[in-house]
Amino acid sequence: MALITKKIKGTEDVLPKQSYRWQFIEQIMREESKSYGFKEIRTPVFEHTELFARGVGQTTDVVQKEMYTFDTKGGESVTLRPEGTAGAARAVLEHSLDNEGLPIKASYFVSCYRYEKPQAGRLREFHQFGLEVYGTQSPVADAELICAAQSILDRLGLEQVRLELNSIGCPECRAKYNRALRDYFGAYRDRLCETCLSRLEKNPMRLLDCKSPEDKKIAENAPKIIDYLCEDCENHFSEVKKYLDAVGIKYTVNPTIVRGLDYYTKTVFEFVTDLIGAQGTVCGGGRYDGLMDELGGKHIPSLGFAMGLERLLMVMDAQGVEIPDNDVCSLYIATMGDAAKVKAFSLLRQVRECGLIAETDVVGRGLRAQMKYADKIGARFSVVLGDNEIEQNRAKVKNMETGEQIELDLDDSFADKFSVHVLTSDKSFEF
Ligand code: ATP
Ligand code: MG
Repeated sequence: MALITKKIKGTEDVLPKQSYRWQFIEQIMREESKSYGFKEIRTPVFEHTELFARGVGQTTDVVQKEMYTFDTKGGESVTLRPEGTAGAARAVLEHSLDNEGLPIKASYFVSCYRYEKPQAGRLREFHQFGLEVYGTQSPVADAELICAAQSILDRLGLEQVRLELNSIGCPECRAKYNRALRDYFGAYRDRLCETCLSRLEKNPMRLLDCKSPEDKKIAENAPKIIDYLCEDCENHFSEVKKYLDAVGIKYTVNPTIVRGLDYYTKTVFEFVTDLIGAQGTVCGGGRYDGLMDELGGKHIPSLGFAMGLERLLMVMDAQGVEIPDNDVCSLYIATMGDAAKVKAFSLLRQVRECGLIAETDVVGRGLRAQMKYADKIGARFSVVLGDNEIEQNRAKVKNMETGEQIELDLDDSFADKFSVHVLTSDKSFEF
């Protein structure tokens, strides 16, 4: 096939008949995050490369090998965002949002770009929903953030997703811990994969996150960060757990969750499922007290999470969660003749003002073909307008499923009466 009609590997289209599924989860995310006081932030899809590749010490796969980076015609290096956190943080600093009072609570929907090996649950363009909180050290904020993620997953009906929690401490505890890790993994030098070897000196915690089975096995017995936390970090962690316990949110402490990025501190967490194969992390987040400093801003302790929308949809499918499709046409008006067409045109406008989906023929088809189309789009009711109906100013509204009919006047009362009829015919409707 010609390239012009072929999408790029690792990208996906959401077609008109599938988009209700996306809108369903997006609406739940909007409603839930709003109820926690978050407001949406929208940032550009590309940023200066430096925003993502900050100086040295960036040892994640994302920064080292997965970024879509290119030079613009003006000779500037820009990168398509691989995640949502950095852009949001940049905007907070650039617009000095901290002057408007802390904490700042922002939500985002972003498309992300990573040059990864495409496979189930791993795309080159994918979508994230995320929450960010800026300007609080308090463990209550950590618990509230996790609580918000849990509320969203609950409302999506995702029961088989579990919360795994860890604390990776502050730079002080981590220095001690990194030494212990270097000693431990150093003894396995000849068995570690190349990537791990290259990270052993710079960022040994990344070794805990390695996906290679042999390295994973070695990592199982590695020292645990929990045993190296300073008093402050340990208290912070137990406070987070206390608040989660208070609302009955279940978690397991998993010492191998490290979330690699150098700016993560203290709380880290993932929501994981076994339902969709190897790429089972649907949400990842934590605290990044050092991020704003790293971006050259003030010290503003922050935290956040991101959820992968494609993976969430996969889990919903795997679990058989039914997503309601409310995008069904309520009324199709089939027309014969010019006067009927004009009448339909104005009736439909009023029906749509009542919040219903309504359509008519815009192709110029004959009556039979129009009815076939009404069937195809699953219209719930139909009306046929011909010379008779126009003359009598009355028409039959037919329930396409049951064949039942009612008669309505084709005047200004039509739309209101039709909406009431739709409501009362709805099986789930109760007075
Ligand atoms: P992974 O374990 O899959 O490599 P990650 O640590 O790279 O995840 P984050 O950067 O934390 O992922 O992104 C947050 C969420 O975005 C992930 O939990 C996942 O749901 C989703 N995600 C990440 N990378 C991809 C991708 N390539 N394709 C689809 N979804 C992704
Ligand atoms: Mg990754």
